[in-house]
Amino acid sequence: MKEMDEAIKQKILITDDIPANITVLGEVLREEYEIIIATNGEKALEIAASEDSPDLILLDIMMPGMDGYEVCRRLKEDEKTIGIPVIFITAKNEIDDETRGLDLGAVDYITKPFQIPIVKARVRTHLELKRKNDILENIAALDGLTGIPNRRQFDETVQREWLRCLRQGVPLSLIMMDIDFFKKYNDAYGHTAGDECLRRVALALKSSVRRAADLMARYGGEEFAAILPDTHSEGAAFVAERIRSSVESEGIPHEYSEVADHVTLSVGAATKIPQMDSTASEIIEAADKMLYEAKDGGRNSVRSTDLSEGQVQTVKAVT
Ligand code: GH3
Ligand code: MG
Ligand code: MG
Repeated sequence: MKEMDEAIKQKILITDDIPANITVLGEVLREEYEIIIATNGEKALEIAASEDSPDLILLDIMMPGMDGYEVCRRLKEDEKTIGIPVIFITAKNEIDDETRGLDLGAVDYITKPFQIPIVKARVRTHLELKRKNDILENIAALDGLTGIPNRRQFDETVQREWLRCLRQGVPLSLIMMDIDFFKKYNDAYGHTAGDECLRRVALALKSSVRRAADLMARYGGEEFAAILPDTHSEGAAFVAERIRSSVESEGIPHEYSEVADHVTLSVGAATKIPQMDSTASEIIEAADKMLYEAKDGGRNSVRSTDLSEGQVQTVKAVT
């Protein structure tokens, strides 16, 4: 039970160079929230950008080294931390100080000495907003039927990863997938069964991509798409085949498929090291072309291409 409570507890990062200040605040807030502590700006930034990022940051302004304004500026500059609300808690009580803090993107500004009940109330308000915001962001990014990332998240991620791979000079691989004879499945078993089939396929696909940076999304209808950053073409072909075989081994009966007696998938993969004079759509189009070659070549199969070398490889399923 305790574990469950902790799982839903929101996290607050308190940043202050004077430990006594943190102790008072921390003790009070600890009753309701998980508290993380940083005694300088650099450490606060590091924690904010980590996997275990906080839901709210209480930030002192006057600190040796990097001051609170600079910490806030950097938090709001970084896509990873921009969504974390910041409340300044500071002895600086001039109108100009507060204006500057709010202009930097802080949601609130509390002056020391502070009243504990007021801090608690303001913290509660901003954490409630954060929770609602997280829920909305989730809804906007996930496909309603299958629960995996949707087309919008795919589009955003592909642009971001293309730029990242461009900067790092590493290959980006994309995989496009389409269920074979799915119209016949729907016609024969009904739309509800079709939806259930899509859910099962999505689950199998999701567990077929395993690196933290990989993304498996529903691209539309019965089409799915995966992003594999920093993955060369051999890796992409390997994952593409794992994807194909994972759906095949689900063994979802499909009496009306022309290529098997169960649901199968055709898969196309493409890889390229991003260049300044190209765009992500070049890889998407190439993966799509490979997918249609896989369809033309008999379905339930994988085709892949490496745009850097212009090679086309085919991996045909053993049926
Ligand atoms: P192919 O092997 O060439 O891919 O043939 P196909 O029948 O899979 O392709 P087609 O694009 O002709 O048909 C796709 C079908 O997918 C149309 C529709 O019946 C079904 N479909 C698309 N989205 C959904 C959905 O959200 N739920 C259900 N149940 N079916 C869907
Ligand atoms: Mg289709
Ligand atoms: Mg299809």
